[in-house]
Amino acid sequence: MKLLEDKIKKLGHVKEGDVLKVDAFLNHQIDPVLLDKMADEFIKIYSDKKFTKVFTIETSGIAIAYPVAQKLGIPLVFAKKSESINIDGELYSSKVISYTHFREFNVIVSKKFLSENDDVLIIDDFLANGSALRGLLSICKQANVKVEGIGIAIEKHFQKGGQELRSEGYRIESLAMIDKIDAKTNTIVFHK
Ligand code: 5GP
Repeated sequence: MKLLEDKIKKLGHVKEGDVLKVDAFLNHQIDPVLLDKMADEFIKIYSDKKFTKVFTIETSGIAIAYPVAQKLGIPLVFAKKSESINIDGELYSSKVISYTHFREFNVIVSKKFLSENDDVLIIDDFLANGSALRGLLSICKQANVKVEGIGIAIEKHFQKGGQELRSEGYRIESLAMIDKIDAKTNTIVFHK
């Protein structure tokens, strides 16, 4: 999506550790006009599908997923990050390794909000090694929901998550795909 690529070129900063900072429009300050257009794009890409829920992970996924859910007129469910583990049976839970914080955490979702009749569109901000997505997919599996599509704002195509998950049969659509980043020169190369 050209608009998103242009924003990344203009406002993105490459940090050591293959991290792309997009605080100026996605992860800290939010550009609602851009997110509205990104939602239109996700909906266009998946116009062949019917969804009953949009599913994401807090915090940054929420702002991206919200306009998608709003335009589709369906609920948005987000997985919450939690220190404690599921003990009461009312929650689905999974473990995620944080790419940016180098630690493992639990994500939880109340069983009330995902059920076997749901057809889910998963949305997230970044796809790197795929741990966040795998956490969400594990919850979907526990809930017996059908994952009809996955929408990612920025995929770092040089990391393994996208390739692995696609080879397992998941449909993943990314609005910007990056082939290479370099912290020393702040270079960002998009996938053609
Ligand atoms: P993965 O779990 O696929 O390795 O990483 C995806 C998650 O880590 C995303 O939910 C995002 O929060 C974070 N992440 C991974 N790479 C980046 C990055 O380059 N920049 C930012 N801002 N977040 C990232």
